[in-house]
Amino acid sequence: MKTIGIVGSTGSIGTQALNIVKKYKDRFKILFISCHNNILLLEKQIFTFEPEYAVITGSNRLDSTFKKTKVLYGINELINLIKNEANRIDLVLSAAIGFAGVMPTYTALLSGIDVALANKESIVTAGSLMIDTAHKSGSSIIPVDSEHSAIYQCLDKKKGDNFVQKVILTASGGPFRFRPLDSMDLVSINETLKHPSWRMGNKITVDSATMMNKGFELIEAKFLFGLPSDKLDVYIHPQCIVHSMVSYIDGSTLAQLGLPDMRIPISYALSYPERLDWGAKALTPDLLNGLTFFKPDTAKYKCFKLALDVLKANKNSLMIAINASNEIAVESFLNGDIDFIDIYTVIDKVLELFDPKDIMSIDEIIALDENARSEAKNIINNLRR
Ligand code: NDP
Ligand code: MG
Repeated sequence: MKTIGIVGSTGSIGTQALNIVKKYKDRFKILFISCHNNILLLEKQIFTFEPEYAVITGSNRLDSTFKKTKVLYGINELINLIKNEANRIDLVLSAAIGFAGVMPTYTALLSGIDVALANKESIVTAGSLMIDTAHKSGSSIIPVDSEHSAIYQCLDKKKGDNFVQKVILTASGGPFRFRPLDSMDLVSINETLKHPSWRMGNKITVDSATMMNKGFELIEAKFLFGLPSDKLDVYIHPQCIVHSMVSYIDGSTLAQLGLPDMRIPISYALSYPERLDWGAKALTPDLLNGLTFFKPDTAKYKCFKLALDVLKANKNSLMIAINASNEIAVESFLNGDIDFIDIYTVIDKVLELFDPKDIMSIDEIIALDENARSEAKNIINNLRR
């Protein structure tokens, strides 16, 4: 029996994870779940899974009380819960959205708990700290992001990365992959949220349209697999069947394939090193006919280009700033306050304000994140005037 806690159980990743767990009640025990504000769904999850704890990190309150579940409030209670129950938790699924996932991930790793990592922002902003912390405490990080799950599955874990020549991440290219560059300034919120292949939360869907998501994933891959930026590459692959590839120095390339369904990497991360027969649809060879791959146009995907520059600079002050400004700009775009192309403008302006530095302490990382957020808000206010 594996005892797990889910941070962000009401999100796209969290609900898919619970759907898998539901089929395997004899293998998984849910110790805690957490949401931010979606208390209606949280309440349903409490009834179905009877976790020992349910945490609400936002301002909503649940009126009901539950026989088997204690309800806790606030991010500090969530952090204390992870710390205090560390001996009883085998795995934390870190699936909150954005920088809000950083402290739960860090606390789990610090407490020696293995982490199934969906929250890529934890690695983008604090990659070195997270990896060092995991090494010291003996925690493993098992990626949930489909590309990183693919790479994890293709890497030869016994022999390390000595023989890796190149790791190629695939990208869907988002809804605008075939849209001409000169019409990119006219895109609407609805068009942006219509992802052609994946159904995900709104924030990552916008990140996918700007390809900032792929930039973040390069940073994530760099830290998770300890690879220099020149060993990482990206190809747009609209069919989303090949989830990433690892090329070795002897000319051999391993790829992981599957239908675009996040339950595949989620189930792998939950059950690793075993695999679950959760009812996945099998991939048949005819689906491989006509697979295509092409390089992203950085003139069109300007946010992706910014992330490439940050990756090359290799200083996490810039990684924190790009993540924070992206979160604020995406939120403003989704609220209808700025245009799609302004997402780039905001992030570009924020990045100019920060010196490239290595920031290793969690307190300084949080302070810089807050600073970059407020700079992004100022820039947005000026844009709107
Ligand atoms: P969603 O927006 O669907 O869900 C986010 C979850 O986080 C919800 O449970 C939400 O609670 C909770 N949450 C929101 N704000 C906070 C906060 N301030 N503090 C604590 N919890 C909060 O996101 P996704 O599931 O799409 O993404 C989750 C993570 O997984 C992201 O880092 C994303 O990049 C990554 N990922 C997602 C993929 C996908 O297919 N969705 C694919 C690969 C990676 P509430 O419901 O109450 O708002
Ligand atoms: Mg991904």
